Amino acid sequence: MRGRVNFLEELLDLVFVPRCLECGGKLDEERRACLCGRCWSRIRLIEPPSCVSCGKQLASDLDPLCGDCRTETRFFTDNRSAAVYDGVMRNAIHLFKYKDKRKLGRHFGEMSVQALSSSGGLAGIDCVLPVPIYRKKRRDFNQSEVLARFIGEGFGLPVHSDVLVRSKDTRPQHELSRGERRQNVSGAFSVKNRQKLDSASILLVDDIFTTGATANECAAAILSGSNAKLVRVFTLARGE
Ligand SMILES: [Zn+2]
Ligand SMILES: [Zn+2]
Repeated sequence: MRGRVNFLEELLDLVFVPRCLECGGKLDEERRACLCGRCWSRIRLIEPPSCVSCGKQLASDLDPLCGDCRTETRFFTDNRSAAVYDGVMRNAIHLFKYKDKRKLGRHFGEMSVQALSSSGGLAGIDCVLPVPIYRKKRRDFNQSEVLARFIGEGFGLPVHSDVLVRSKDTRPQHELSRGERRQNVSGAFSVKNRQKLDSASILLVDDIFTTGATANECAAAILSGSNAKLVRVFTLARGE
C-alpha cells in the first residue's frame, strides 16, 4: 500500500508540479516562469564592452566597433541587446514564440527594461515600435510587441503597433545565409499613420538580432516613409 501511495505522489508530482523546461528540475519558490533559477542564471547577459553600433559582445574595448560594423551600412543609430542568443536563451525564446509559453514574456520584459536601464536608458526617445509579424500568419501573438509593451510601460513611452507593417511574408531569418537574409526582408516593411512619427526619435524592438538585416530594413522603411528623426534598436538577444 505504501508503495502505491508513493507511486501516486510521484505521479501527481509529475503531472502538477511545475518543472523547469530546460533541465526538468522542480521549479523553485520564486518560480521563474518556465525555467528554474539555476537555468536562468546560465543566460549570458551582454556586459560592457559591446560594439557601440550593433551591441555585439566584444572581448576587449580596444576598438568600439566590431568587424561587421566597420563595413556594413546601417540605417539605425545603434542596437542594444540584453543577452547572448545561445543555449538556455535560444531555447527559452523558442518556447516563448512557438510553444505558447507566454509567461516568459514578463521575465523577458523585465530583462529588457533592466538591460536598457543599465546601458544608458532611453533619454530622447519619443515612442516604441515593435517589429511586426505578417498579419496573415496563423500565430496570433507578436513576441516583439510583448517586449515593446513592457519597455513602454517601464519608461513611460507610447507604443505604436499600427505604424510599421510587414507587407510581405518572409521566411524565418535563422534558416537563411547572410545574403539570403537581406534578400528575404527586402521591401517587406512599410509605414502607415506616418504622422505619429513626425520628428520622432524611435526605439524599434525585436526579439533576436542576428545580422541586423531585419532591423536595418525596418529602419530604412521608417526613415523613408516618415519624418522620423532617428531609429535606435533594442533586441532581447544578440547572436555572437
Ligand atoms: Zn532548470
Ligand atoms: Zn558591431
